[in-house]
Amino acid sequence: MKCPACQNKMQENVVAGIKVQACRGECGGLWFDRFQFKKIEFLKPGIGQSLLMIERAEGVKIYRGAEHTCPDCKTTLLYRHFFSTEGDTEINQCSKCRGFWIDLSGLANLQSLPAVQKKQAVEKYFTTILDKKISGMRLRHDDMAQQAQVLTQILKFLCPEDQG
Ligand SMILES: [Zn+2]
Ligand SMILES: [Zn+2]
Repeated sequence: MKCPACQNKMQENVVAGIKVQACRGECGGLWFDRFQFKKIEFLKPGIGQSLLMIERAEGVKIYRGAEHTCPDCKTTLLYRHFFSTEGDTEINQCSKCRGFWIDLSGLANLQSLPAVQKKQAVEKYFTTILDKKISGMRLRHDDMAQQAQVLTQILKFLCPEDQG
């Protein structure tokens, strides 16, 4: 499977039984297919945090701001749920196969901060995504609400801090 953002060949990682395709050595983005969603629900938050630390290349931001094609369906364009240049983050989803393309470079960058600062910065990062974006998704309609729930679970899987 090729990275939807930079066409690098992605590598499969299995963390706590969850299969994730990762763009190692390039943009560091992660692909979650819909078969992982049910499993993620029952895992301890933060158990997938090592996925944030996979190697990235410098200067990958050039791939942002362009539309990406689903790496699985190949023809469907990914729908952009959340995008922030400032936050160095992108969350896309395929409307056909439901897979999530998640680039949390902004969150990965926070991992090197000293503990106290990191906790605050990570909380702020999540508040931005969860409050500003996901709570809006919940209001739209049932299907979108369900997708918002899946996305929240994926984010909790990746982040060690307790988000309440
Ligand atoms: Zn990539
Ligand atoms: Zn797809």
